Amino acid sequence: MEKQAHQELKKLDAAKSQFIMATQHHLRTPLTIMKGYVSMILEGDYGRVNQMVKDKLRFFRESTEKLIRLVNDFLDISQFQMGKSILKLTKVKPVELVQSVIEELRPEAAEKGLSLELQQPRSLPQIKVDPAKFKEALYNIINNGIQYTQQGGVVVELKKNSALEIIVRDTGIGMSPAQSQQIFNQIFERGEKAKEVYALGKGVGLYISSKIIEAHGGRIWAESAGAGQGSTFHLILPLEKKK
Ligand code: ADP
Repeated sequence: MEKQAHQELKKLDAAKSQFIMATQHHLRTPLTIMKGYVSMILEGDYGRVNQMVKDKLRFFRESTEKLIRLVNDFLDISQFQMGKSILKLTKVKPVELVQSVIEELRPEAAEKGLSLELQQPRSLPQIKVDPAKFKEALYNIINNGIQYTQQGGVVVELKKNSALEIIVRDTGIGMSPAQSQQIFNQIFERGEKAKEVYALGKGVGLYISSKIIEAHGGRIWAESAGAGQGSTFHLILPLEKKK
């Protein structure tokens, strides 16, 4: 009896994940098309567009990008939950990867009057990662630094010891020791202060980021001296051994 129930549950779970994946695919395609057309209109491919319309179209494009990001996060979650290996690994320069995420987020930081700085050693070895997924994980962490900080800013530091370490420090709302343990495991759970400071948060970013980092054989954890004391996120990625 118990075995049969277990099998039924497993089947249901697989059906649910497949349903979610199919739905997300059908969401992502039209969203990507929408973003493409808005970009072409903004670039003047269909004629001159006045400044006021351009400003509104930029909001439209930003919202579409946010939706695409969310759909991607949900898609990743269901794939990880199905135990699928979803990484497409290639060799990349870590600085280029981190820099591209920082540049993507620079307008967001500038709008809040926050600094956003990269510190790096003179040379770093290449890393073997899935660039899109790795960037998604980094984006979530750096974006949190910006969203949960009201004054000061965010520093992203790259370091090499036996592994590659990426440290993201902010001067924001901080968190309790208990919270810094929980944030990677719980979906949709958010801190009270976090909801106040960043109403648009969804509580899925760190869960998916930690799954992505773990799938790369890495580790991620958070530290904070407490409320109002800022937070530091550490991300460790093993380096390939020299042959
Ligand atoms: P979201 O930011 O959308 O709520 P996340 O999974 O990225 O979802 O983060 C989960 C929770 O962890 C946040 O709601 C917040 O309470 C806390 N958190 C994450 N990053 C930070 C940070 N840099 N500073 C303070 N709290 C943070």
